[in-house]
Amino acid sequence: MRWVALFGAALLSVAPVWAAQPAFTRPPYAGAYQPQGTDERGLWMEIGEAERVLRETPGLVRDPRLIEFVRGVLCRTVGRERCASVRTYIVRDNTFNASMSPNGMMIVHTGLLVRLHSEAELAAILGHEFAHFEQRHTLRRMLNMRNGTDIMVWMGLAGAVTNVGTARAQNSIALSFFSFSRANESEADLLSTQFVRASPYRIRGAAVWTRVLDEENADRRERGLRKQRKLAPNLTDTHPTDLQRIAFHAKLEQEVGAVGEDAIETYRAATAAIMPTLLDSLIKGNQFAAANYVIAARGEELGWDGLLTFARGELYRLRGGPRNLATARDLYLNATRMRGTPPENWRGLGLSEMRLGDTAAGRAALTEYLRRSPGARDAASIRLALEN
Ligand SMILES: [Zn+2]
Repeated sequence: MRWVALFGAALLSVAPVWAAQPAFTRPPYAGAYQPQGTDERGLWMEIGEAERVLRETPGLVRDPRLIEFVRGVLCRTVGRERCASVRTYIVRDNTFNASMSPNGMMIVHTGLLVRLHSEAELAAILGHEFAHFEQRHTLRRMLNMRNGTDIMVWMGLAGAVTNVGTARAQNSIALSFFSFSRANESEADLLSTQFVRASPYRIRGAAVWTRVLDEENADRRERGLRKQRKLAPNLTDTHPTDLQRIAFHAKLEQEVGAVGEDAIETYRAATAAIMPTLLDSLIKGNQFAAANYVIAARGEELGWDGLLTFARGELYRLRGGPRNLATARDLYLNATRMRGTPPENWRGLGLSEMRLGDTAAGRAALTEYLRRSPGARDAASIRLALEN
């Protein structure tokens, strides 16, 4: 309508740089899809049952502030109207995964939160998953699954619900992101970038997808090296489709320019309470190269703090071997001079020094650990070790 254009032009003269972009609105929303016919109604019942199981699972994160934060980012991305049809859950699971079922249940895995750096990046992912929902891609895929177990496995929930890691989860960093057709992925990317352009956030898809692929390649390279004696090394080349996706986001980012917020600090604050446990489970996830990549990417882009440096120290120490232990010791020592370093850093330092043969330094660090954390779960055994 003409008055819109006039109003926009009037704004331009006084508005900051970002307003120079044409106003961007979300496409109209038809509302949450309702099941049609016996098959779809049957599917809705199965998903409803899966959702009831999910609500009872110990693997569910129950921190209302974190759930509200994730939901808030989703609502700012897709808008209030769309957001109203979503129920948000966070599950403890190391994979870079999020999914949304046709009945409006959105599941965010903690492995996603540990790998993202800002609200804008989270917006890129949640907008993408919502787009699959709105475009009924998930519905079409799920119609072939006729029981709750299939649904749980597809959503990557099998491990979280049964509390046992699934083989599939261990072998893949990203699950549902790569399980749609190429056409569906492009469609979801198009719609999700429309969401983000109409939101307060900056378009950051390229950065997220680049890191996911770099991590997968680091992981594959490591697996390839491990298997090298038996098999030919795996090809680690990035799939052309993935490169096209990154190129799509990068081009759009360039066209749109520096519009919108990253919201890095608010992301950091909202995830601060859960970050130590997320890093801990990443370290113990038995994927050294992938975990090392995730930690290094956070450190390099967001700055190294005591927690991240300690986490990297733990990763190297648990890997074992004299060279890794020496690296771990250096990292722990660096962390002692940083902010936000947890008491366990001195435990890791002490244990590394002991293993490397410097008993005096080891005892000093372990004593410092007990001073900082007198009520630690392993305090009694550490005290006993120090007495001998
Ligand atoms: Zn997708």
